[in-house]
Amino acid sequence: MSTLPSLTDLPLDAFEPLAEELGEKRFAGKNLARWVFERRARDFLAMSDLSKRFRAALAERHVVRRTAIAADRSDPGGTRAFVLRLADGKTIETVLIPEEARRTVCVSTQVGCPVACVFCASGLDGLIRNLTAGEIIEQVMIVQDALPEGERVSNVVVMGIGEPTMNLTALTQALATWNDPRGLGIGARRITISTVGWPARIDRLTALHKEFGLAISLHAPRQELRERLIPNGGQVPLADLLAAAKRWFAQTGRRVTFEYVLIDGQNASLREAAELAALLAGFPCHVNLIPVNPVEGLPYRRPAPDVIEQFKLTLLRAGIDATVRHPRGDGIAAACGQLRLRVEAEQGAGELAPPAPLAPPASRPTTRPA
Ligand code: SAH
Repeated sequence: MSTLPSLTDLPLDAFEPLAEELGEKRFAGKNLARWVFERRARDFLAMSDLSKRFRAALAERHVVRRTAIAADRSDPGGTRAFVLRLADGKTIETVLIPEEARRTVCVSTQVGCPVACVFCASGLDGLIRNLTAGEIIEQVMIVQDALPEGERVSNVVVMGIGEPTMNLTALTQALATWNDPRGLGIGARRITISTVGWPARIDRLTALHKEFGLAISLHAPRQELRERLIPNGGQVPLADLLAAAKRWFAQTGRRVTFEYVLIDGQNASLREAAELAALLAGFPCHVNLIPVNPVEGLPYRRPAPDVIEQFKLTLLRAGIDATVRHPRGDGIAAACGQLRLRVEAEQGAGELAPPAPLAPPASRPTTRPA
């Protein structure tokens, strides 16, 4: 395995100086960035408009890494989950969600997660490590490579494994590379970051002055309940979190989405619905209600369909825009790091196993609404 640094880890602004450093004109650096990100070339030899000397110098110092696909499984609904094996053997998950004309990629930002939401599969083993910027960026390129001719990744949601704002430097570089026309050229409005939410970290995103989408994982309208569901993050005072969300809206003009995972017997009663309506009253936002995806070994189940409906209606009657996210990718355990856990169990973590067809998911009881 090569230990040379990968050009996918390089910020866009570093390409022209790199060309100069190697005795080339600046525009050669611009062309190099296009080969790496837009054309997705892996081999310096293929970069035909770069001088032979430049290509040879690059090959001595750099590689163009592409994280390996360890498993690739499709759902009948079209959702496609990739388990990727990083250079150090660790695994992450990337999901393609095709919906009408959109091709949305859900990307991971960490191996594991430090936040430990009680209902989530990603934090079961805590944080293993941050992803590098290139490892985050490449996930979109890997999915683009897997799409049929003529289809393009249109949207990115940073909602995979990990807490993106705990890896802010790499996240910021990835956002820039996806968004910049010199990189992948995906519009800011088509890129959404999901976070448990710390005011100072949200403010850092606000300060980017970009119209990215922001989704805050709220899950509870009361402090003590939120702390119980989000052990390493729910302590942030709700008033401070709301204030940061309002600064975001004031700066970007984009409504914040509040994600609210609905869990039977925990946070889904009419009491919580009314409290949530009161908390968000008057703030232009959107509430995305997500019936919990049951995780093997965890006791959390979805509320009954009429409970979900009543929760939504309570918000709508209070003038709060609310929708229910319909479960997707259940059959492949696409949600939130579950496929990764299964693949690790089947293939073993650490060793690079060849991609193999996977056994169908083990059946387990679900309380999924019909
Ligand atoms: N750490 C970030 C982003 C990753 S999780 C965050 O928490 O926002 C993306 C979304 O999936 C979050 O709203 C999270 O609460 C939700 N999620 C996690 N586990 C889930 C599960 N088992 N069922 C449904 N949603 C889940």
